Amino acid sequence: MVSIFFKKGDPFDLDHWFTPPPINEGAYDVVGRDDRSIHFRKSMHLRNYSGTEFDLEVNILRAHITPNERGRLVLEITGKRQALESGLSTVREMGVEIQPLAQDVRWHEERCTHCTACLSVCRTRALDVKRPEMVVSFTRDRCIACELCIPVCPYQAMEVLF
Ligand code: SF4
Ligand code: SF4
Repeated sequence: MVSIFFKKGDPFDLDHWFTPPPINEGAYDVVGRDDRSIHFRKSMHLRNYSGTEFDLEVNILRAHITPNERGRLVLEITGKRQALESGLSTVREMGVEIQPLAQDVRWHEERCTHCTACLSVCRTRALDVKRPEMVVSFTRDRCIACELCIPVCPYQAMEVLF
Protein backbone atom coordinates (compact mmCIF):
# COMPACT_ATOMS: atom_id res chain seq x y z
CA MET A 1 0.00 0.00 0.00
CA VAL A 2 1.37 3.42 -0.93
CA SER A 3 0.46 6.63 0.83
CA ILE A 4 2.30 9.95 0.54
CA PHE A 5 2.75 12.26 3.53
CA PHE A 6 4.92 15.34 4.15
CA LYS A 7 6.16 16.65 7.49
CA LYS A 8 4.90 20.07 8.54
CA GLY A 9 6.98 22.76 6.82
CA ASP A 10 8.63 20.43 4.29
CA PRO A 11 8.32 21.23 0.57
CA PHE A 12 6.09 19.03 -1.59
CA ASP A 13 8.85 17.32 -3.57
CA LEU A 14 10.28 13.86 -4.10
CA ASP A 15 13.01 14.33 -1.48
CA HIS A 16 10.58 14.90 1.34
CA TRP A 17 7.66 12.52 0.92
CA PHE A 18 7.31 9.53 3.19
CA THR A 19 4.83 6.83 4.00
CA PRO A 20 3.78 6.76 7.66
CA PRO A 21 5.13 3.57 9.28
CA PRO A 22 1.72 2.33 10.49
CA ILE A 23 0.59 2.10 6.85
CA ASN A 24 3.50 0.15 5.39
CA GLU A 25 5.11 -1.52 8.42
CA GLY A 26 3.80 -4.18 10.72
CA ALA A 27 1.11 -6.69 10.07
CA TYR A 28 -2.49 -6.05 9.18
CA ASP A 29 -5.01 -8.42 10.77
CA VAL A 30 -6.61 -10.86 8.36
CA VAL A 31 -10.30 -10.65 9.20
CA GLY A 32 -11.71 -12.66 6.31
CA ARG A 33 -10.73 -14.65 3.27
CA ASP A 34 -12.21 -16.81 0.59
CA ASP A 35 -11.08 -18.27 -2.75
CA ARG A 36 -10.98 -14.88 -4.50
CA SER A 37 -10.26 -12.28 -1.87
CA ILE A 38 -8.63 -11.47 1.44
CA HIS A 39 -9.73 -8.78 3.87
CA PHE A 40 -7.20 -6.88 6.03
CA ARG A 41 -7.81 -4.50 8.93
CA LYS A 42 -5.58 -2.24 11.01
CA SER A 43 -6.11 0.64 13.43
CA MET A 44 -3.65 3.52 13.11
CA HIS A 45 -2.87 6.97 14.42
CA LEU A 46 -1.60 9.41 11.75
CA ARG A 47 -0.61 13.08 11.64
CA ASN A 48 -0.82 14.98 8.34
CA TYR A 49 1.00 18.01 6.93
CA SER A 50 -1.19 20.53 8.73
CA GLY A 51 -0.71 18.72 12.04
CA THR A 52 -4.17 17.15 12.14
CA GLU A 53 -4.13 13.79 13.89
CA PHE A 54 -6.24 10.87 12.76
CA ASP A 55 -7.37 7.83 14.69
CA LEU A 56 -8.63 5.63 11.92
CA GLU A 57 -9.48 2.01 11.35
CA VAL A 58 -8.69 1.00 7.78
CA ASN A 59 -10.11 -2.06 6.05
CA ILE A 60 -8.52 -2.85 2.68
CA LEU A 61 -11.29 -4.57 0.77
CA ARG A 62 -9.69 -4.67 -2.68
CA ALA A 63 -6.57 -3.34 -4.37
CA HIS A 64 -5.57 -2.99 -8.01
CA ILE A 65 -2.12 -1.41 -8.44
CA THR A 66 -0.60 -1.29 -11.90
CA PRO A 67 3.17 -1.52 -12.55
CA ASN A 68 3.34 2.26 -13.04
CA GLU A 69 1.73 2.68 -9.60
CA ARG A 70 -1.61 3.89 -10.83
CA GLY A 71 -4.47 2.01 -9.39
CA ARG A 72 -7.49 1.80 -7.19
CA LEU A 73 -7.97 0.85 -3.57
CA VAL A 74 -11.32 -0.02 -2.09
CA LEU A 75 -11.15 0.98 1.55
CA GLU A 76 -13.56 1.04 4.42
CA ILE A 77 -12.39 3.69 6.88
CA THR A 78 -13.96 4.30 10.26
CA GLY A 79 -13.21 7.07 12.73
CA LYS A 80 -14.60 10.31 14.06
CA ARG A 81 -16.41 12.37 11.41
CA GLN A 82 -14.04 15.33 11.74
CA ALA A 83 -10.96 13.11 11.34
CA LEU A 84 -12.49 11.36 8.32
CA GLU A 85 -13.43 14.59 6.57
CA SER A 86 -10.05 16.11 7.26
CA GLY A 87 -8.25 12.99 6.06
CA LEU A 88 -10.27 12.77 2.85
CA SER A 89 -9.71 16.45 2.19
CA THR A 90 -5.95 16.01 2.57
CA VAL A 91 -5.90 13.05 0.18
CA ARG A 92 -7.97 15.00 -2.39
CA GLU A 93 -5.51 17.91 -2.20
CA MET A 94 -2.79 15.42 -3.17
CA GLY A 95 -4.65 14.71 -6.42
CA VAL A 96 -6.23 11.41 -5.42
CA GLU A 97 -9.75 10.95 -6.71
CA ILE A 98 -12.18 9.66 -4.08
CA GLN A 99 -15.60 8.36 -4.80
CA PRO A 100 -18.19 6.53 -2.71
CA LEU A 101 -18.22 2.84 -3.37
CA ALA A 102 -21.96 2.80 -3.93
CA GLN A 103 -21.51 4.49 -7.32
CA ASP A 104 -19.57 1.52 -8.67
CA VAL A 105 -21.96 -1.35 -7.97
CA ARG A 106 -25.12 -1.88 -9.97
CA TRP A 107 -27.98 -4.31 -9.60
CA HIS A 108 -29.83 -4.59 -12.92
CA GLU A 109 -33.23 -5.33 -11.47
CA GLU A 110 -34.76 -5.91 -14.87
CA ARG A 111 -32.36 -8.84 -15.46
CA CYS A 112 -32.83 -10.39 -12.01
CA THR A 113 -35.02 -13.49 -11.97
CA HIS A 114 -34.94 -13.72 -8.15
CA CYS A 115 -33.32 -17.12 -8.38
CA THR A 116 -31.48 -16.43 -5.07
CA ALA A 117 -28.23 -18.00 -6.31
CA CYS A 118 -26.30 -14.96 -5.11
CA LEU A 119 -27.55 -14.95 -1.53
CA SER A 120 -25.16 -17.58 -0.22
CA VAL A 121 -22.07 -15.59 -1.31
CA CYS A 122 -23.21 -12.13 -0.22
CA ARG A 123 -21.89 -11.94 3.32
CA THR A 124 -23.11 -8.41 3.99
CA ARG A 125 -26.68 -9.21 2.97
CA ALA A 126 -26.60 -6.44 0.39
CA LEU A 127 -28.44 -9.00 -1.67
CA ASP A 128 -31.30 -10.35 0.39
CA VAL A 129 -34.63 -12.05 -0.12
CA LYS A 130 -38.01 -11.18 1.28
CA ARG A 131 -39.84 -14.28 2.44
CA PRO A 132 -42.26 -15.89 1.78
CA GLU A 133 -42.59 -13.90 -1.46
CA MET A 134 -38.98 -14.82 -2.41
CA VAL A 135 -38.31 -11.40 -3.90
CA VAL A 136 -34.62 -10.49 -4.04
CA SER A 137 -33.54 -6.93 -3.30
CA PHE A 138 -30.26 -5.04 -3.33
CA THR A 139 -29.26 -2.59 -0.58
CA ARG A 140 -26.46 -0.50 -2.03
CA ASP A 141 -25.17 0.82 1.30
CA ARG A 142 -24.37 -2.70 2.51
CA CYS A 143 -22.37 -3.67 -0.58
CA ILE A 144 -18.58 -3.87 -0.19
CA ALA A 145 -17.91 -4.59 -3.90
CA CYS A 146 -16.37 -7.98 -3.14
CA GLU A 147 -17.61 -9.20 -6.57
CA LEU A 148 -18.51 -12.64 -5.25
CA CYS A 149 -21.99 -12.34 -6.71
CA ILE A 150 -20.71 -11.65 -10.24
CA PRO A 151 -19.71 -15.21 -11.26
CA VAL A 152 -22.65 -16.88 -9.54
CA CYS A 153 -25.36 -14.78 -11.19
CA PRO A 154 -26.55 -16.65 -14.30
CA TYR A 155 -28.23 -13.53 -15.71
CA GLN A 156 -25.47 -10.90 -15.35
CA ALA A 157 -27.75 -8.90 -13.08
CA MET A 158 -24.86 -7.67 -10.92
CA GLU A 159 -22.19 -5.37 -12.28
CA VAL A 160 -19.14 -3.84 -10.60
CA LEU A 161 -17.77 -0.94 -12.63
CA PHE A 162 -14.06 -1.09 -11.98
S1 SF4 B 1 -20.45 -7.29 -4.58
FE1 SF4 B 1 -22.20 -8.68 -4.55
S2 SF4 B 1 -21.68 -10.28 -3.07
FE2 SF4 B 1 -20.28 -8.55 -2.70
S3 SF4 B 1 -21.32 -7.34 -1.12
FE3 SF4 B 1 -21.91 -6.46 -3.09
S4 SF4 B 1 -23.84 -7.46 -3.61
FE4 SF4 B 1 -22.87 -8.70 -1.98
S1 SF4 C 1 -28.12 -14.56 -8.83
FE1 SF4 C 1 -28.58 -12.84 -10.20
S2 SF4 C 1 -30.62 -13.32 -11.03
FE2 SF4 C 1 -30.30 -14.61 -9.22
S3 SF4 C 1 -31.22 -13.42 -7.54
FE3 SF4 C 1 -29.04 -12.92 -7.59
S4 SF4 C 1 -28.94 -11.06 -8.86
FE4 SF4 C 1 -30.92 -11.97 -9.23
